[in-house]
Amino acid sequence: MLQIVNYPHPALRYASRAITEIDNDLHATVRTMFELMYAAKGIGLAANQVGLPFRFFVLNLSADPEQKDQELVFINPEIVKRHSSIEDEEGCLSIPGVYAKVRRARKVKVRAYDLTGELVEHDANELFSRAVQHETDHLDGKLFIDYLDATAQQTVADKLRVFELTYRQAQSSGAVPADVELIRRLDSMPRPMVNNSELSAADGPDDSANPVPEAREQEHHAERDDYNRAPGASEEEHRAEHDDYANRAPRSGVKERDAERDDGANPVLESS
Ligand SMILES: [Zn+2]
Repeated sequence: MLQIVNYPHPALRYASRAITEIDNDLHATVRTMFELMYAAKGIGLAANQVGLPFRFFVLNLSADPEQKDQELVFINPEIVKRHSSIEDEEGCLSIPGVYAKVRRARKVKVRAYDLTGELVEHDANELFSRAVQHETDHLDGKLFIDYLDATAQQTVADKLRVFELTYRQAQSSGAVPADVELIRRLDSMPRPMVNNSELSAADGPDDSANPVPEAREQEHHAERDDYNRAPGASEEEHRAEHDDYANRAPRSGVKERDAERDDGANPVLESS
């Protein structure tokens, strides 16, 4: 079953692949992620925080499981505009107990698909803006501690060392697989599934869900090949592939007009 992984699990440094299909597995995974997030008293959770190398995250700024109407799902998100900047304290469910001030854009415009396959745009301010930036960073393998200056790094260094030590001990005891094995699993995972720990390359895609339009069948197979890429590819090559995936519409439920709108806009992720 899914669980939140802690720093320095390699999933947290993984540049995630775009979602190409919104199927029942994704719906179930999203539901499970909300429950994990509520249990941990968080307001946001990215897929790689539960060991899934895919571009989506969930958000509920109320952190209240009763307020389901506040739940938001961001699939293949792109921050298309950033405005001004502001510093505020941040934490992360994958580095519990570590907090630090991070400077981020005050406002962002984010574009993402929701669970119905609808392309949605949000103008986010304040906490919403910060959460969107924090979670989108996760999908690029980036953590809030990466932004800290030398002085701030010093203040969290001891806590991070404890996380590192705990994690490496779990690996040497065999409770957690070695990084090279975890990365192999991330590389070969064909799509989000709640029971991903049991997932092996032998489990093919579930074709019973959402038939793939014929025109895209070939592209579909090409993508699968990429997913099965052998481990050990360089980070640069890795990211180059993901750039191709960026801003791709997920397969199911995407309306024609959304696809057009998407092509027209073709947002570029601004560097901070
Ligand atoms: Zn986080």
